[in-house]
Amino acid sequence: MMNEQQVDLKQAALIGMNWIPCGRNNVQEVINPATGHLLGTVPKLSKEHIHNAIEIAEQAFNAWRKTSTNHRCAILTKWYQKIEENEERLASIITLEQGKPFAEALGEIRYAASYIKWYSQPTLQDNGSIIKGDVENESLSIVTEPVGLCAAITPWNFPAAMLTRKAAPALAVGCSIIIKPAPETPFTALALSELALQAGVPPGLINVVTGDAPVIGDILCSSKKIKKLSFTGSTLVGKKLMQACAPTVKRLSLELGGNAPFIVCNDADVDKAIDGAMQSKFRNAGQTCVCANAFYVHDSLYERFAEGLEKRIKALSLGQGSQPHSDIGPLINESALEKVDALVRDAKEKGGNIVCGGSRWSESDRWYLPTLITQATVDMRCVQEEIFGPVVALVRYSDEDKLIAQLRLQDTGLAAYFYSDSLSRIHQLAAELNVGMVGINTGLISDAAMPFGGVKSSGVGREGGRQGIMEYLETKYIKLCY
Ligand code: ADP
Repeated sequence: MMNEQQVDLKQAALIGMNWIPCGRNNVQEVINPATGHLLGTVPKLSKEHIHNAIEIAEQAFNAWRKTSTNHRCAILTKWYQKIEENEERLASIITLEQGKPFAEALGEIRYAASYIKWYSQPTLQDNGSIIKGDVENESLSIVTEPVGLCAAITPWNFPAAMLTRKAAPALAVGCSIIIKPAPETPFTALALSELALQAGVPPGLINVVTGDAPVIGDILCSSKKIKKLSFTGSTLVGKKLMQACAPTVKRLSLELGGNAPFIVCNDADVDKAIDGAMQSKFRNAGQTCVCANAFYVHDSLYERFAEGLEKRIKALSLGQGSQPHSDIGPLINESALEKVDALVRDAKEKGGNIVCGGSRWSESDRWYLPTLITQATVDMRCVQEEIFGPVVALVRYSDEDKLIAQLRLQDTGLAAYFYSDSLSRIHQLAAELNVGMVGINTGLISDAAMPFGGVKSSGVGREGGRQGIMEYLETKYIKLCY
């Protein structure tokens, strides 16, 4: 892990081939969440800068769309290699601006790079087909074309992976992209984009704009030149952006909030379920959109599961992400801490039993203690809302049909997990859970080759896999008579 002095942060926005430095006043401060200290600054770009980025990215698209798939994929491969060579530095930047333990940050960089590697395969791209028409002297063909200039608005919890999962398929098919990273974590996006330029991605294809989110968002959403928006973030902001994109009828991919149920069925292997629960819940201190949110444990296994989990939670070590043995880093900011604490207090008031944790850490109030709540009930906010913190709430159930019917009514539908050893139940639950992704006997589901995304208010579209590429392509039908 490199420290703040060693990483050499790029404190500038990227438009075309120009790095726009910070002015004297108009800057956005980036804070290290583990220390509360200023890590660096990025510019608050003016509206003119954003319009300029749109012009430049559109010009870059017009040249890039004419290049061959092989050429584009070869450049993506070089970008992947640059990321591999610089993984320690990139992971250090994530830990410094986002707070997650360095080993997890390294895992994120490898995961982020895996999207570039996956999308650098030319054979993934469907170039269309020719169909023999019913009539002689007639040829019907279907071709695919890049959507055009795209905008990407990314969150702070996975600042590298959320960027590459949008930028890699966009570039692979011939689009250009303007990225607005989260204000908490711009340096990862800037470092990745710098490596893209070094790898030979032509200037103007990747642009990183920093500054006031609503101002930038308004310009990007209302621009006729931008043909697609890909957003990962909260449901509230996603709905606003969807509305803002309506007048220009943009293509949209939205990956919004989830509230993933984690079900421990009566025939589950409890030890494996505990392992899965720990992996799913405590990665990134619980700040992951697909992490298990509410736990539903069958009556017959409830005590065993709760006791096993309690031991494992108490063994977690808290500390700065830069320290080698930290399992749990700080939460991203004060409002995240306040929200988690409010949910825990609500659970307490409604009869929840706080087995461990339940407050901020006495050594530093930037951390929330890993918390286990038993006797949780469905009326509690920590069961109904996305927690985004290291808190486990265990709801007891006995009637599986009732539970599934209740879960199907949930407004969100990103991921769901369950543990069971019965083949028929596995098939039945996988079919009944109304979500975009299901993990069975595992707490980890992300994979660059697979489509990531949700249903209902968890979003539209998919990222990753072959499906992720279609999000950046238009289909054209051509009829030729000769
Ligand atoms: P969180 O609450 O987890 O930070 P947000 O949805 O607020 O989630 O943020 C996700 C991304 O959306 C960030 O890049 C943020 O800057 C951006 N964002 C927030 N509000 C707006 C907005 N009104 N217009 C455009 N982008 C926005």
